[in-house]
Amino acid sequence: MYPRRDLLILSMRFDIITIFPNIFNSYFNESIIKRAQNKKIIKIKIHGLRKWTKDKHKTVDGRPYGGGAGMVLMAEPIYQALKSLRQKRKAKNSKIILLSAKGKKWDQQMAKRYAKFNNIILICGRYEGVDERVKKIVDEEISIGDYVLTGGEIPAMVIVDSIARLLPGVLGNKESAKFESHSEAGVLEYPHYTRPEILKINGKNYKVPKALLSGNHAEIKKWREKKSKKLF
Ligand code: SAM
Repeated sequence: MYPRRDLLILSMRFDIITIFPNIFNSYFNESIIKRAQNKKIIKIKIHGLRKWTKDKHKTVDGRPYGGGAGMVLMAEPIYQALKSLRQKRKAKNSKIILLSAKGKKWDQQMAKRYAKFNNIILICGRYEGVDERVKKIVDEEISIGDYVLTGGEIPAMVIVDSIARLLPGVLGNKESAKFESHSEAGVLEYPHYTRPEILKINGKNYKVPKALLSGNHAEIKKWREKKSKKLF
């Protein structure tokens, strides 16, 4: 049993470990995610991995044993980063995620589960990835899809965003997350329309469905139920 966040009014904390901290500046400082931080519903702290290196060049990567292309992020600075964050936070209800194309695929149901934690630490890989031994000190290895990105920073943003919008108070009524695609596994939301009522594209008129203009709530509800899709 996890404590109910809405009763405890806790701030959920995200710690992101990366070798490119500036990547996050823009996305986390706009719109809903910015508002959630201002309202202290979430806290996001970006940590440059080089802070936990010991040599004067602040080395975070090395050549792969056995040869081959590219560099690999070293386990030692990551281990030191996790040790230091764990000591500082002392959050019992926390999870450490390693972002990896080989990980378990992220989805809305996982976002719901993770929305119950107080602290999530995300480790962003780069280059060829991270030393395999990092997996010994993380809770979960997560992929955001079956493709390879340059680094774990975009996946970290995806995870923070998809969790944050589920927390009470982050979305207003207008943007409610209750009835959305995937909020029930395998169900996609009905289509939306806005002005104008008739849209002309390449000489053809595209009209807003009649039911939505009827003002009849029962009819609108029926139309929306019919148009929402079940994937399985
Ligand atoms: N050599 C790795 C492989 O073949 O699986 C790919 C490394 S990728 C270029 C560098 C980093 O980007 C990874 O360590 C991971 O942190 C991140 N990454 C790339 N694709 C990802 C995905 N689909 N989901 C989550 N993280 C991903």
